[in-house]
Order: sequence, then structure tokens, then C-alpha cells
Amino acid sequence: MKVSLLLLVYCLAWVVCDEQPDYSYGAGVAEWGNISSQCEGRLQSPIALSTTRSIPAAEQRPLELLGYQEDPTQVNVTNDGHTAVYSFQYPNDRTIIAQGGPLRGRFRFASLHFHWGANSARGAEHVVDGRRYAMEMHLVFFNEMYGSFMEAQDQTNGLAVLGIFFASSADAPYYGWVPALTEVQQAQTSYTLPDPTVFNIKGLIGARRKPYFSYQGSLTTPPCYESVTWLVQKKPLQMSEEQLNVFRSLRDNNGNPLVDNYRPLQNANGRPVYYYSNGLS
Ligand SMILES: [Zn+2]
Repeated sequence: MKVSLLLLVYCLAWVVCDEQPDYSYGAGVAEWGNISSQCEGRLQSPIALSTTRSIPAAEQRPLELLGYQEDPTQVNVTNDGHTAVYSFQYPNDRTIIAQGGPLRGRFRFASLHFHWGANSARGAEHVVDGRRYAMEMHLVFFNEMYGSFMEAQDQTNGLAVLGIFFASSADAPYYGWVPALTEVQQAQTSYTLPDPTVFNIKGLIGARRKPYFSYQGSLTTPPCYESVTWLVQKKPLQMSEEQLNVFRSLRDNNGNPLVDNYRPLQNANGRPVYYYSNGLS
């Protein structure tokens, strides 16, 4: 009786009630295998990426983001206690499609979120050529043959995630979508940006296609499903310390600073990592 009451209270407390205990970073990552056995699998993410130790690959079809030049009609940001998630609506219910490159099929954009550190010496999940950047953004896509992210997340070839790093830089652009984070400093709060056009994806990541790594891996949070084709752009975008500090001002579910929300490196277990740089710069 006591247990079910606790579970009920627990479920009421969370936006997404999936009867899984909450997870945490730091010492808490040792418990992830108890939350989901998938977290102890052999195809986990993130991993260390190396330009010289990856397999040079050429695209048969260019990796494309269709519709990413559109201005969104609505952008919401949510502090879910683990990260800041931005979700987008586009005119006529259109969405961004990722296809080509190493992707097998068409993948619909679901949302994007970030991993960051307490300071700029850490924060990104993937490490590139021994360097860990201050922040890593994940654009999450699901294979359109599965209807929704929820349906796709544990399916073979279900997800694609585009990872883009941010380096701390004094001469970084100013991002108009960052100040909205001051409205969601408390966990489990959401906010609708007054001007959705400040978050144009093409405006953020640029028109020019850039070299990237690709490998088969997992979600980097429980339940750690091994359903992800990773696309990790090698070169970072830039963000000022002032704007990175806005991310660091968020609070987690316990009211503590929401920082260092990155998973430790996982064993590659001999997985091939491909590096796409032909014709890209
Ligand atoms: Zn992520």
C-alpha cells in the first residue's frame, strides 16, 4: 500500500510518468543499469571520436536537412530537470526532415536539447580528438516509418541524433533564444518564446555543410535504447561565457544547479566510426 501510494505521488510529480525511477549524473550514473539494463549494453553513447582512427567515408547522397530554413511559428522551451528542451512548430504542420549521408530512410525532427558543464572545460558528451567542448546540442530525429518519437525510440534504425558542439568564445554570436531559459530556471517549467523567429535552425547551424562523424549508438540518458544513428559535427559553434552561464543558472528536480548533465564516455567495443569529410570544409 505504501509503495503504490509512493508511486502515485511520484507519478503525479513528473510530466512523463513511465514508472521509472529518476536518474542523476555524477555518482548517480552507476545506477543507470538498474533503471534500464540497456544502459549496460555494448552500443552505448557517447564515445571518444578520433579523426585519425575513424574510417574515411564518402557520401553517396549528401546529408540534408529539408525545411530547416523555415522560421518556426512557435517555439517552446522546457526545463525537464535534466536539460533544456526546445520544441518547434512550423507553418502548415511541416517539419524538418533529415536524410542522406549514412541515414537509411527519412527522419523527422522531434526536438533539441543540450548538455553542458559547470564550467567551460567540460559539458559536451562526445570527445573529439581528445577535446571536450563546453556544450553539446542534440537535434533528435525519428524514422518517419514509426509515426512518433515514442514509437521509434526503441526500434532498429528508429532515431538519428545530430550532435553539434559549442566552444566558449569571446567573439561568439548572440543567440536570441538563450534568454528564454531565464523563464524556466525551475525544473518542470515551460515557456513559449515571444518571438519564435529568433530560433531559426539554419540561422544557427549555418548553410554550409561541415565534416561529421557517424556511428551506431544509443540515447545518452536512460532508458539508453541502442537505436541511434549518430551524426556528430566535428567543428564547434561558438557561445559566449555570458550565454553559457544562462544554461548554468537552471535548477534540477532537487533545486540544485543543473550543470554537468553529460554522460561519461562509453566503451566503443570495436564499433566502426565513419568520418565524412569529402567535399566538406
Ligand atoms: Zn542529448
